[in-house]
Amino acid sequence: MGIAGWVWILVLLCVSQGACATSLWVADGLSPQNLSPHLRLLKDANGDLTIDDILTSDSPSWSVLADGEQANFGFSTAAYWVAVTLRNPSSQPLELVIRQDYPLIDYLDFWQPGADGAWQHVATGDRRPFQTRPLDLRDFVFPVTLAAHTTQTFYFRFQTAGSMNIGLNVHSNTAFLPKLAQEQILLGIYYGGFLVLVIYNLFLFLAVRDKAYAHYMGYAISYGIYFGIHNGVSFQYLWPDNPWLANQSLVFLLGLTLIFGTQFVRTICNGAQLAPHTDRVARWLMFLLVPLTAISPFVSYGPMVLSLAILTLVLTVLFMVMGVISVLRGSVPARYFLVGWSALLVCVVIYMLKTFGLVPHNGFTHNAFQVGALIEMVLLSLALGARVGEIQRHGYVDQLTGLYNRRYFDEQLQREFLLAQRSGTPLTLMVLDLDHFKAINDRLGHARGDEALRAVGQLLKKQLRKPVIACRYGGEEFAVLLPRTDSNAASTVAQRLRIAVAQMEFEDAALSVSIGVSNFAGKGFASAVQLFEAADKSLYQAKAQGRNRVVFEPAGNETFLSNGL
Ligand code: GH3
Ligand code: MG
Ligand code: MG
Repeated sequence: MGIAGWVWILVLLCVSQGACATSLWVADGLSPQNLSPHLRLLKDANGDLTIDDILTSDSPSWSVLADGEQANFGFSTAAYWVAVTLRNPSSQPLELVIRQDYPLIDYLDFWQPGADGAWQHVATGDRRPFQTRPLDLRDFVFPVTLAAHTTQTFYFRFQTAGSMNIGLNVHSNTAFLPKLAQEQILLGIYYGGFLVLVIYNLFLFLAVRDKAYAHYMGYAISYGIYFGIHNGVSFQYLWPDNPWLANQSLVFLLGLTLIFGTQFVRTICNGAQLAPHTDRVARWLMFLLVPLTAISPFVSYGPMVLSLAILTLVLTVLFMVMGVISVLRGSVPARYFLVGWSALLVCVVIYMLKTFGLVPHNGFTHNAFQVGALIEMVLLSLALGARVGEIQRHGYVDQLTGLYNRRYFDEQLQREFLLAQRSGTPLTLMVLDLDHFKAINDRLGHARGDEALRAVGQLLKKQLRKPVIACRYGGEEFAVLLPRTDSNAASTVAQRLRIAVAQMEFEDAALSVSIGVSNFAGKGFASAVQLFEAADKSLYQAKAQGRNRVVFEPAGNETFLSNGL
């Protein structure tokens, strides 16, 4: 068969396989144009073809993508050759850029014809130093010039150990620059948001010294750098001369993110206390995660990414379970966490599907992870705030009765006294002591005694509403602070409490309480301590006068004696 015959067969093959992607007509002001429908692709399974092989044999194995299909091939050891043909029908030469918007390609080679007709070769990719790029940008941008009335084919060769995402598009220079400026602003806002969160939480960490903040910062920083690697910013700004780091850092930082994330979630959900079983599983996973992360820079990329991706999925579910259990057990920080985590979860799933080539590569799937992460980071920061509130409340609450403890009461007494002094409003203080409680303990046992105390605590909570502050002052002694309450109103409250305790049914034990009351009405006491001492003195008198009664200070002025109900 002659040459003409071969050509004819090639044409037939080309037509039957639909492998003749149309050339793209370009014009000045061309806005970003996805090249996927115009690509011709050739899978070079062994990766041993050269540009000469490609140019000299118009290989019949070129293929094109189906309608709407994207060139995502997941993990592949093959090299992919790409040819794209552009046509400039105008009478002016056109300045264009061809852009590969996924920057994690190990080896990316590009050929375009030079002025002398010889092919010019650019060899770049993230396994090569950053300055091999024609332009210092986070992803790969190749400027090309298309002479007037010409049709020109450009060739690429992609080879990568990671995800084979071929995301080529073409713009005219004039459309590219404004788009680039806009992207830089968005990136700046994005990383600025991360930075603000880290700095804000650093200050909080210095003030509060809670380890959750340290975990949060570790999480946010490693997460931020991890994303920087994904969109090429980390390579450009952090280690442009270190292609080894550019590649190995991805899995390492993913590992670090998972480690800090796990520790953070365990702390913020109070896993050890609220979800101990889930927490134990998380701890075991850490034994897997830490060594895996430590060796990650030194082992091959593919299996590492896969195992960490699987671990990410496992941890995602685990965190969800821990969050739900903690929320059900009343944790407020876990609520914020759960909302944030759910947002991220949705985005992670979308992103994973894209990585494995199951959903299209587009602006949203490409950035879903990042957007989800920033939403999550903000919510986790709120979770930290809620945790601080919880810790503070925890330090102010009496464990047995659930009332405030003495520490809180002392602070509030001081505060309310100063307020009353300044504003001239009355302030009443009651000190309550259960009568013959020792005898109750002796008869029923200490545990039942505790229950009696808890029951009195419940009763005080039920009877008293804000702004009244009730606390367990110690042992079987309680204190009640009544801001803006004069002695008349206070006496009513005191009697009501005394009667309520006396009417309590606690097994066959008769409970009763003696109450000493003191009132500040602009004068009489120079300090909160004096006010307290006065109430204590009244209490002593109530005991001396036979118990189960209320005594007011000054004792001589207003004494309310009540023996009967
Ligand atoms: P009164 O105040 O009427 O003079 O007699 P009392 O028996 O209550 O005497 P006192 O206030 O001196 O004794 C307090 C007793 O309360 C001592 C202790 O047995 C008991 N108590 C103190 N704290 C607790 C506690 O947390 N749990 C239990 N079960 N008992 C406590
Ligand atoms: Mg006592
Ligand atoms: Mg007592």
